[in-house]
Amino acid sequence: MAASSVTAVDDPYLFSRMRLAESLHREFPQDGELVDALISLPRELFVEPASRFRAYEDEALPIRFGQSISQPYMVLFMTRLLRPEAGLRVLEIGTGSGYQTALLARLKMEVFSLEILEPLYREAESRLRALNLISGIHLRHGDGRLGWPEMSPFQRILVTAAPAERVPPALRDQLAEGGVLVAPVGPQGGAQHLSLEEKVHGRFKKVLSIPVRFVPLV
Ligand code: SAH
Repeated sequence: MAASSVTAVDDPYLFSRMRLAESLHREFPQDGELVDALISLPRELFVEPASRFRAYEDEALPIRFGQSISQPYMVLFMTRLLRPEAGLRVLEIGTGSGYQTALLARLKMEVFSLEILEPLYREAESRLRALNLISGIHLRHGDGRLGWPEMSPFQRILVTAAPAERVPPALRDQLAEGGVLVAPVGPQGGAQHLSLEEKVHGRFKKVLSIPVRFVPLV
C-alpha cells in the first residue's frame, strides 16, 4: 500500500493508518485494492485540523458548516455497492470534503461531483488540486437534486446526503441504462436506509436496502 512510501519519522499517522488498513482489510476481505486505494488518501487533510488526530479512526468526522466526512467503513461500503470500474462516468451528489470524490477518481472513474455549499465546493477544489488528486474530477457548485444534465448520462450515481422521501427524479433520468444508483433516503432523525437500484429497460430494480444515518440533502 502507499503508506510504504512514507516513513514513521515523517508520518505521525503511520501507525493509526496501518491499524485502520488492517481492520478494513478484515472487514472487506474481497476488496483489497479498494481498501488500499482508500488508505492511500491522506484523510487527515480532508478533516478539520482539530480532528486530525482522529483521522484514521473508523468514524465520521466534522467538516465545516455542520457537514461531515463519512466513516471509512461507510465510504468503502457505498463504493463497493457502486461496482466501480475504470472509465465509467459517475455523478456524485455532495462533494463535502472531496474524500469520496478522490477515492472514485483513484479507481480511475471519471467523476462529476456537485456541492450545494459554495465554500465547501471551493475548499474541495483547492484541496484536490493541491494534493494532485484532481485528475479525472469535475466539480461544480450547484443543487445536486437537479443533477448535471449536460454531462449525463452517468453509468453510476452516488448520493452522499439523504433526501427525506425519495431520490430526486432528475437523478433517475440521468442514469444510463444498466446503471447503478446508490443513495441514502429518509428523514433526519428518522428511519433512513441506503438503497441500491439498477436501471433495467428504463425501470428501477431495487437490489438492496439497509438502515443508515446521513446528513440531509437540502
Ligand atoms: N462525501 C463527502 C461527505 C458528504 S456530506 C465527503 O467525503 O466528505 C454531504 C454533503 O452533501 C455536504 O457537503 C452537503 O453540503 C452536501 N449537500 C446537501 N444537499 C445537497 C444538494 N442538494 N446538492 C449538492 N450537495 C448537497
